[in-house]
Order: sequence, then structure tokens, then C-alpha cells
Amino acid sequence: METHIFPLLALADADGLSYRGFITVKGQELPFEIQLENGKSLRNAKLNGSPELKRLLFGHEKALKQRLEQCPSLTEFFIDLKDLLERIITKEKREPMPDESYYSKLLSELDAVGWDKLESLDPSLKSLTLILNDSSSRKHKIYITLSFSYPQTPLTVHIDLPSSASKMPNPTINFNDVISFYSKEVEKFQEVWSMLDDIDINTWVLEPDKPKRSDMSRRIALGNHCSLFIKLDELNPKKICDYTLFGAESFIAPLRINIAKNFTNWNPSLSIRQNLEKILEINFPSPEESSDFNVACGICYAYRLDDVIPDQTCSNAKCGQPFHQVCLYEWLRAIPSTTQTFNRLRGDCPYCNDTIMLIIK
Ligand SMILES: [Zn+2]
Ligand SMILES: [Zn+2]
Repeated sequence: METHIFPLLALADADGLSYRGFITVKGQELPFEIQLENGKSLRNAKLNGSPELKRLLFGHEKALKQRLEQCPSLTEFFIDLKDLLERIITKEKREPMPDESYYSKLLSELDAVGWDKLESLDPSLKSLTLILNDSSSRKHKIYITLSFSYPQTPLTVHIDLPSSASKMPNPTINFNDVISFYSKEVEKFQEVWSMLDDIDINTWVLEPDKPKRSDMSRRIALGNHCSLFIKLDELNPKKICDYTLFGAESFIAPLRINIAKNFTNWNPSLSIRQNLEKILEINFPSPEESSDFNVACGICYAYRLDDVIPDQTCSNAKCGQPFHQVCLYEWLRAIPSTTQTFNRLRGDCPYCNDTIMLIIK
């Protein structure tokens, strides 16, 4: 069975984690290389291959990842991969090619909208990206997908905007309609984007990693392993925003007192950042200062672990070290002196030996 599917599978390195071979699909021989992370499973294995194999799998990354996670052995993975590739090739053969009217309509639309607005055009000619400049010179990408029956079938349009943005009311076939509709739409959010740009430039933003124009929240580092989470009102960004403080109680308690004391001094003519600095009575650390303090987990030394950030903090004011919940859980469980009452673990902080408590959620 195995040799029938990939007769040329060969071990490519001494530690038994890398294989090279050919997979034969519909008469085509596709060279590949697979690099395993460990000898136990195919999870996180990296599949590399010929340009043709890459082209066929382009856009099917999720299906590929799923198969790598689920298949217990290389043989089963290659049976599944062969099946996936066969289906992709069969589907490609069934797709009709665009006719003359498609090309001429596409060209005339690009002429009309201006080629300077075209950022990229997919080699398949089925998707393209236009650039829209707003009144503050922010660039917005508009992703357009065309069907080969275009212009009989209207365009599919996607742009990254806050949730209250309107969708185009009527489907269109004209690029100019798309540009003029979204030119008005992006103007609704100039104020909130100015506030957020000011935060992104002048503070150290922990989350989101790479903010999108639709992201209205930020988690800002305050130093001492503390952070402030805020969410702006996209249509009314000058009003007092929702906030949550994270970190060791000894650091954030004085900030809460400052907020209570200064809350009424919120000044709508200032930016959100300036207002927050005023009511918290602090200056946000700038992105340049980000290396001065550590927000990484004190156990695994990473900031992001499976997309989770360290949100457990030692409450000793001199320590304040953050940990991922899962790291702290495993650490405390491994220590004999740790006690558990219901869902609470009580043990020693790996950093300062002070008592640390973890509530298992
Ligand atoms: Zn960790
Ligand atoms: Zn500690």
C-alpha cells in the first residue's frame, strides 16, 4: 500500500524527522519534503514541495493543517493528501476559462478607476486589491473578487472597517462605485482612528499584535507587569471609554484611586491617551521603553503561548512577575507543598517564593 502511493519516500536526515519523496497525483509526480517536529505526531509538521505542489495547495492551508493534526501516521497523511490534491485538480479542470468580454470589462474598469489605485492583481485575474486614501492619508485596502461570469455576476467586495460601517446596499459591477461608496464610509471613522493612531504611536500596545482598522480595543503596557485594556466607541470616541486594569493589586490599587478622584476631569477636547494619562496620573511608557521591563511569562519566557498572554501575576509588590495560567498551573501542581481547595491552588511563586494563588478557570 505504502509503496504504491509514494514509491520514493526516503529519510532525509539522521534524526529521522525529515522525509523526501514524490507523490503521484493524476499522472503528475510532485516532489515534496516533510519535516516533523517530533517522532510522535504530525502536528506542526512542515510540508515543502515543488512550485506546482505549492500552487495546488495555495488557499487550502486550513485543510492541510487539519489533516496533519488528525492523521496518526505518515502513510495515512499521504493517502489523505493525495485525495485532497486529486479533488483540487479535478475542480480546476472543471472551472471554465474567462472569455473575451471578461478581460475587456476588467481592463476598462481599471482604466476608469485609475491604475494608480490598483495595488495587486492575482495571476488568476480573479481577485485584486485597490487602495483607497482617506482624508488623513490613511491607506485602506479594498479586496475585490470576480467570478468568471463577470460582468454578469457582480463583484464581491471586502474592506476592513469597524462594525458599524455600512455594506454597499446594492451589488455593483463598477470599481468606481466601490471607491466612491467606501470613500464616504471611511470618513465616519476619522476621529476614532486618530485617537487609536495616537495610542499606537505613543504607547506600548500589547494587544492586538498588529491592530487592524476594525480593532477598537487596545491593551496598553503600564510598566511593573501591569496593563490597561480600553475599548473605544467607534462613533463617539471622545467620550469616556470602557477600561479594565490588569496586574498585581499593589500596583493597580493606587491607579483605581486616581481614576475615582479624577474621573470628572475627563476633557473631550483632549485625545483619549492624554485623558487617560491625566486621570491615571501616569505617563504611558513609550514603545522604545518596551525592552526596559518584562511582560513575558516567568516560566516559559514567552509572551504569547497558543495566543494566550500571561494574565496571572504574583501579588508581592516587589515581584509582580506575570505567568500564563497554564504554566503556573503546571508549576504549582509539580510542587509537593502546593495545596488545593476547590478550584484554588496555593503555592510558592517561582520567582520570589511568596505565596501565590491560582484560581483555575
Ligand atoms: Zn508561560
Ligand atoms: Zn513573586
